[in-house]
Amino acid sequence: MATRAPTDVVVIGGGVIGLSIAWTAAVNGMAVTVVDPAPGRGASWAAAGMLAPVGEAYYGEEALIALNLRASREWPEFARALETASGESVGYRADGTLLVAMDPSDQAATDDVLGFHLGHGLGARRLSARECRGEEPLLAPGIKGGAELADDHQVDNRRVVDALAGACRAHRVAFSDDEASDVDGGDGDGGRVTGVTLRHGGRLAAGAVVVAAGCRSGQIGGIPEAIRPPVRPVKGITVRLRGDSRGPSLRRTVRGMVHGRSCYLVPRRDGTLVVGATVEEQGFDLSVRIGAVSDLLDDARQLVPALDEYELLESTAGLRPGSPDNAPIVGQTHVAGLIMATGHYRNGILLAPVTAYEVTRILLSGAVGLIGPDGHEEAAGQAGSAERPVKIGDRLHETSLMGAFAPFGPDRFAPAGGAGRAPLSVGDR
Ligand SMILES: Cc1cc2nc3c(=O)[nH]c(=O)nc-3n(C[C@H](O)[C@H](O)[C@H](O)COP(=O)(O)OP(=O)(O)OC[C@H]3O[C@@H](n4cnc5c(N)ncnc54)[C@H](O)[C@@H]3O)c2cc1C
Repeated sequence: MATRAPTDVVVIGGGVIGLSIAWTAAVNGMAVTVVDPAPGRGASWAAAGMLAPVGEAYYGEEALIALNLRASREWPEFARALETASGESVGYRADGTLLVAMDPSDQAATDDVLGFHLGHGLGARRLSARECRGEEPLLAPGIKGGAELADDHQVDNRRVVDALAGACRAHRVAFSDDEASDVDGGDGDGGRVTGVTLRHGGRLAAGAVVVAAGCRSGQIGGIPEAIRPPVRPVKGITVRLRGDSRGPSLRRTVRGMVHGRSCYLVPRRDGTLVVGATVEEQGFDLSVRIGAVSDLLDDARQLVPALDEYELLESTAGLRPGSPDNAPIVGQTHVAGLIMATGHYRNGILLAPVTAYEVTRILLSGAVGLIGPDGHEEAAGQAGSAERPVKIGDRLHETSLMGAFAPFGPDRFAPAGGAGRAPLSVGDR
């Protein structure tokens, strides 16, 4: 079997997570190869791009709030560095989000959520129906009221993945358009990864392997059962619309409760509008059902009647990588050189920069043997000091993220009553 030239790091999966890691690792001096038959076209393409630490804070998921807030603070710098590296705008907008309720019971549910936000010190401000319509004149006259979530921002996720691919190429990241079938070396005695076997023949030798294959991360062979990431696909559909460029449009993201269902509308600067999203447990099915699209559009049109005149551009399904506790699975495993970066579920776009910093920090820490300039692997433990700052753009990212992610190990997902964390409830994005 042909073995290609060794690389420091193989990243399995080129979605927003894998590409962010590949770019950050390359900026920090590592030789990186991304394996993916369709980079950037998984969940990261279907997503809406909301950076929503407040709107995505749910009962039972309190542990995630601090991480999501932290992630949101990292975005402006990450976006700037990415735009400089790629020469492309990524559509970062900090306009805030409006939460609105359609009927009295939606208003009661929205008030409840607002109480939760305020109780956790999150930035939210109650608004009357009149104030909501003052902020967004396109909202239906019948809405009952809502809130302003000033700390919820957005980025154009499609521009982000394309910019990441460009920035990776500019930093000499290599791409393989094959699929990874197995991680090599992980299940032997004294487990230490040696690379990746490709589905259509050949292997890539590497000192470290990052599993970032989204909802398929648990399907890669060669990962010991105890640390196989327990991710599952959670289907979501978004619809893209375009209004008349001369007409009025939404100024900011609107999240609505419409007769008990949630729905969001995310306006882009180019005049398109992303409407989302369904949440469906349908395995790996990616079909777009008319009923799902019709429900989404009905809800969106009730919130913003002017949508009737918009053009329907496309509907897209994606598979969120869901984990049992809805929190990401990021970290070094007990197999030397094998790192997990998956399970980002509803917030993978938001969490991409912090995930990239955390994984790069692990790679720089010396726990992983990297290929030295002479082409020979440096011994693990000697490649660097544990607290080397991660470089991003022209700046050094000094802040430690240690402890920001939940530890990943067999204990985390132990059955209820065991040593694992209590399962978190499923949210609605
Ligand atoms: C409808 C919808 C709306 C969303 N909205 C938002 C939002 O507003 N904000 C937010 O933060 N998040 C949102 N998300 C969640 C977010 O999209 C995901 O959490 C994120 O995209 C996960 O990124 P990823 O790189 O892990 O996965 P993906 O983008 O799915 O990428 C995984 C990649 O791995 C590749 N791959 C799979 N198997 C292999 C293999 N064996 N070998 C090589 N490559 C492989 C795939 O081809 C794919 O490119 C949304 C998701 C959906 C579906």
